[in-house]
Amino acid sequence: MAATPMMQQYEDAKASCPDALLLFRMGDFYELFHDDAETAHRILGITLTSRDKSENPIPMAGFPHHQLDGYLAKLIAAGCRVAVCDQVEDPKKAKGLVKREVTRLVTPGTLTDECLLDPRASNFLAAYLSGESGEIGGLAWVDVSTGRFYAASIPHDQLYDELARIRPAELLLSEDSAEAEIDGEWSVTRRAGWTFSYKSALQLLEKQFGTQSLEGFGFGDQDTAALCAAGSILSYLQETQRTELAHIDQISPYESRSALQIDEASRSSLEISRTVRSEKRDGSLLDVMDRTVTAMGGRLLAEWLENPLTDCRAIDARLDCVEEFVQSPAQINAFKERLAKIYDMERLLARATTGRASPRDLQFMGTTLAALPAIKENLHSLTAARFGQLDAEFDLCSDLQQQLTAALQDDCPLTSREGGFIREGFHARLDELRALSSGGKQWIARYQADQIEHSGITNLKVGYNRVFGYYLEVTHAHRDKVPETYIRKQTLKNAERYITPELKEHEEKVLQADAQTNELEYELYLELREAVTQAAERLRKTASVLAELDVICSLANLARSRDYCRPAVNESREMTLHGGRHPVLDVLSEEGTFVPNDTELHFDRQRLLLITGPNMAGKSTYIRQVALITIMAQIGSYVPASSAEIGVADRIYARVGASDQIARGQSTFMVEMLETARILNTATDRSLVILDEIGRGTSTYDGVSLAWAVVEHLHNQVQCRTLFATHYHELTELEDRLEGVANFNVSVREWENEVVFLHKIAPGAANKSYGIHVASLAGVPKAVQQRAQDILKHLEQEHHDALQPGEAVPDSSGREATNGDAGDLQMSLFGTEEHPLIEKIRQLDLESLTPLETMQQLSEWQAQLEQESQAKPR
Ligand code: ADP
Ligand code: MG
Repeated sequence: MAATPMMQQYEDAKASCPDALLLFRMGDFYELFHDDAETAHRILGITLTSRDKSENPIPMAGFPHHQLDGYLAKLIAAGCRVAVCDQVEDPKKAKGLVKREVTRLVTPGTLTDECLLDPRASNFLAAYLSGESGEIGGLAWVDVSTGRFYAASIPHDQLYDELARIRPAELLLSEDSAEAEIDGEWSVTRRAGWTFSYKSALQLLEKQFGTQSLEGFGFGDQDTAALCAAGSILSYLQETQRTELAHIDQISPYESRSALQIDEASRSSLEISRTVRSEKRDGSLLDVMDRTVTAMGGRLLAEWLENPLTDCRAIDARLDCVEEFVQSPAQINAFKERLAKIYDMERLLARATTGRASPRDLQFMGTTLAALPAIKENLHSLTAARFGQLDAEFDLCSDLQQQLTAALQDDCPLTSREGGFIREGFHARLDELRALSSGGKQWIARYQADQIEHSGITNLKVGYNRVFGYYLEVTHAHRDKVPETYIRKQTLKNAERYITPELKEHEEKVLQADAQTNELEYELYLELREAVTQAAERLRKTASVLAELDVICSLANLARSRDYCRPAVNESREMTLHGGRHPVLDVLSEEGTFVPNDTELHFDRQRLLLITGPNMAGKSTYIRQVALITIMAQIGSYVPASSAEIGVADRIYARVGASDQIARGQSTFMVEMLETARILNTATDRSLVILDEIGRGTSTYDGVSLAWAVVEHLHNQVQCRTLFATHYHELTELEDRLEGVANFNVSVREWENEVVFLHKIAPGAANKSYGIHVASLAGVPKAVQQRAQDILKHLEQEHHDALQPGEAVPDSSGREATNGDAGDLQMSLFGTEEHPLIEKIRQLDLESLTPLETMQQLSEWQAQLEQESQAKPR
């Protein structure tokens, strides 16, 4: 059976974007057909019906067009790609079938709509191409909603860390590329191989930026793959956006070396921009630090926290700005108040250049620009060098501001097609048309009064509907008074509707004037939108100045209200913190209850701190606070301490032992070991390493030996600053063996057989395990506690026999004890299931292997085991 012309139109549109759900505009509805209808029914819960009820019913589902935004959001959140097929000519004017075209392809990584985006988060589209050698690949990423565009050459093994930092919504990969999957929270889109070609990339990029080469942006010969990835992004945007993208007017090379490196696992365990448990922003470092008043500032602060600096001068330049504000609270307030009045300029601009700005968006752009002179004036009075640079980049765009303010009314609508947003007096012809229309309407009002008077029908009224325009309505009670000249059009339950030739004549005038008004207003709207697009580069620069001012203000505000200090950052490998506090717990715990602690790390002595103490003493909190304070200092923030001197770190690592994270599932011990191996391989003497209960995921003596080996390696080979929290008391012996190791403990007091946590760090090792007391605090029955005491005594005795004090412990090991009763007893006590790998670990000859070799051997075995378990049929 031949398809109807409309269904043929549908099939054509569908063929142009086969992998997207097609929303097909029919009258006031968007309709989906076939499989798309079923998918939409499942995701959106809209009713599934069918078109063409005869032999070949076609599944169909739809929703009213004004609900598009809400349904789009749900489809995108469910990971769909959606093509919107609109009527591209006025149905009233169409001869025959209305023309329809796919006007946009909406994908998770290419959103610009306000309702589909989180105002405080960037929304990146990324593309990756592995390089020729396979080791170095190219990564590019853009936020279409703001125009930020970056590209970088990165080693393949850092890909996940970079992706964890960027958190793209969507990742483009070549169909031809060898990579199997690069899975994550992003949705992966496969693209034809040629879209990644160097030739097409150069063409697209040079055309987009209007340049002859990309060297001006700082790209060189080694960046081929990065530029290919950037080119593939532009080609994808052309296809999905189908508009100019004037706001994407530059691309920046991203230098991973100039940023503090924080790998994926550390980023997550330090809860920098989201917490481990909820995966949400609430309760993260970003959340407690964020006092910005604009969405742009919120996004920039997140970006700073994702990319702390390593260059002391750049850090100091930011700190100078923050300090100037800290010393002048009046300035903070003045800026805050003025910044709070501006809208999200970056996203307004993106919507204008992609043709999606509403009249209200343009009006908001105008209001924002009108608020700028006051901000610039404030900026003038500041003295820090960076403020001077910001001032120079700050373009008021007053020409555009005047144009927008003169043209647009104060309360503009969201749609551009129905007029009603251009100010009176802005355009002579428009005023004339409006007068015609309102004159016509006045005539109609007068006509109604006349007719009432002449006919004596007191409740006669004039109404309007879309089908037959203006009409006269008379209730049945007055039917016999209706003049003969009235022409009957429609009978209702209790009234009749009539028209007259005079009424029709004036109706024509009104409708024509209205249509012309709308058309003219639409044209004027297009002009204004174009004017905004023309100013894209200036607007973008100004927007980033505003974002930075907001962030600096926010940092200063936080510093004042939480009593932070300005850190002295330098190139040393030292760190001295007095009265350091955990930035998040400090804010979240009851005022004045958080106990501050000092930290001292030196390169030549005391570079590795072993922190012991009972459960709940505050070990994890303490070591994390050191890492978080370092990160804060390196974004140019004041820090929660009374004084701080920080040698800039090049990398920060944070690892949490397996059993602390048991909830994460999988073979946690192995994850822990692999992650630890990575630190040992990549940390430098400028890094900061935080290890929390490493080695806990296995039976006691395996754990101790591994922890021991790790400490030795970090101390002897890597020589980085390290804080190692452990409940393995055995490790405290290392203080006597290694000159850079120092023992600290988190003190507790026993009082009337109860434990009191002081949360205070003191030199020396903790001398007793208080774990059982904590059980008593937690309400574990007395009998169980007693039994635990007995077992503990037994274990301590075994342990004592196995490791005689003063006896030389073989390098990197405590192996002899491994198969002893104590280990077995403990295993059975906790009923842990043993990982098959642990059996293998027992076979390791630790005496002849270096710690690094041990780790490498372990990762090989892990890979092997994984392969075996995958090969096994389920
Ligand atoms: P551990 O790692 O030693 O088991 P945590 O660091 O997890 O202990 O701390 C346990 C709890 O003690 C935290 O949740 C926090 O409420 C509290 N705490 C830790 N450090 C401090 C501190 N310096 N001041 C006040 N309370 C603290
Ligand atoms: Mg802990």
